[in-house]
Amino acid sequence: MKILFTASEAVPFAKTGGLADVATALSRALSKQGHEVVLVLPHYPQLISPAVRSCFKFRPVKDSFVATVGPRETRGRFLETELPESDVKVILVDQPDYFDRPSPYVYENIPYEDNCERFVFFSRAVIEAARQFGPFDVIHTNDWQTALVPAYVEIEERKQSDLFKKVGTVLTIHNLAFQGRFWHWDMALTGLDWKYFNWKQMEFFGDLNLLKTGIVFADMVTTVSPSYAKEICTPELGWGLDPALSDRGDSLVGILNGVDVETWHPEVDRFIKVNYSSETVEQNKPICKTDLQKMVGLPEKQEVPLVAMISRLSQQKGFDLIKQAAGQLLDNDAQFVFLGTGEREFERFLKELAGQYPTRVAALVKFDEELAHKMEAGADLFLMPSEFEPSGLNQMYSMLYGTIPIVHAVGGLADSVVPTSEQTIAAKTATGFSFKEYNVDSFLKTFRQALDTFRDKKTWKQIQQTAMSQDLSWTNSARHYVKVYERAIARHVKG
Ligand code: ADP
Repeated sequence: MKILFTASEAVPFAKTGGLADVATALSRALSKQGHEVVLVLPHYPQLISPAVRSCFKFRPVKDSFVATVGPRETRGRFLETELPESDVKVILVDQPDYFDRPSPYVYENIPYEDNCERFVFFSRAVIEAARQFGPFDVIHTNDWQTALVPAYVEIEERKQSDLFKKVGTVLTIHNLAFQGRFWHWDMALTGLDWKYFNWKQMEFFGDLNLLKTGIVFADMVTTVSPSYAKEICTPELGWGLDPALSDRGDSLVGILNGVDVETWHPEVDRFIKVNYSSETVEQNKPICKTDLQKMVGLPEKQEVPLVAMISRLSQQKGFDLIKQAAGQLLDNDAQFVFLGTGEREFERFLKELAGQYPTRVAALVKFDEELAHKMEAGADLFLMPSEFEPSGLNQMYSMLYGTIPIVHAVGGLADSVVPTSEQTIAAKTATGFSFKEYNVDSFLKTFRQALDTFRDKKTWKQIQQTAMSQDLSWTNSARHYVKVYERAIARHVKG
């Protein structure tokens, strides 16, 4: 199968969250299973580190192209490279006016004013890439930034070009909270007829909604866990799009994300002090713990549980709960290390907490990939009390590192963590701790359960072994995606 996979970010070229990990790891897994994958991304020159730039050759390919964005014709060009240790071809869409910026979507937490225009351009460029590097069997788009592509295929390309006649389109929703919602006049930028600006297609409470557009026009819609696929069809977690999503019936599918085990696995992780496996975890993980404590300035104590959290600082990730529970969390004998950036209110809160409890709390307000790896290896417990969580990656990384997650049982967290109970300990299936009710009492009760279990060395060891020996790689998930691709393609096979 020949697959065009497109996203607005992918490691190591740009990353603001899980989408970047997924884009690269899924492309690589599909390629390993024998499919031909072309990954199309914007080129953000400022986000490519000198180390990455020196490892990759970015070759300008073919002629430049022109894309129509509203009344303007804008020129762009493609740069070509490859993902290391794979056959995935990477096409970077180079357009400095739109993408030579300090971050992909926001500046100082405020979205760029021309975000709609930038991603209309990018979506047009994806169609152009499909023309130049195709024909493709499938075009797989991700989130609002690329969700216009299925509409362009359906409305403009399928009828007029043989290249697109049989192509299947797929949209994956990584987080329904981000929809690409813009004022109605931005409809003119898309170049599509105003007749599509109606409540059943592209319009949403008077605005243009790009994610909704993709939900309506893609052949298949997926999201990143089976539980989240159900949750987004309800008014509570549907962000107003639950009717459009429910309308998709069984063409909306949930597939749990996997882990890129070449990057996120303690046996091969190149950032951690010493590598370890489920056999050497007892001897080597304490070395990583001391290294982490030293690095973040916490006392080097093995017997005190070290609790880590790596996250965007937002309400979604449960920071309101942590803020409310902070005093009681710190009544327990435990150390905390937080790594994250995001909303000012939570940045300030974490810094103040660290100031108040310098020997118990470390707060690192920055984006630091290397430290994230060291935290996964060095901590004993990982906090992920998200209010909602489409899939979540860190709880899966944590389990593989024997760092036991404490999660709110929602979305992908519910699908991936088996909560510790008498039954799951007896059955040897427990891999973490989870609470159902999203409130301080349930959270604290589960937190205390985790600390008690930490002191019970035999049970702790069992949970660690079960968590670490799971197959969380992309192999299985990639197979599920291929089934979805087949269904998307089948919609255009006649007779
Ligand atoms: P989301 O995509 O909603 O932000 P995920 O758990 O799916 O959440 O993925 C988050 C990814 O971003 C993980 O790989 C995590 O390690 C990483 N991450 C988040 N914040 C930081 C940070 N401040 N420093 C380093 N990595 C981070």
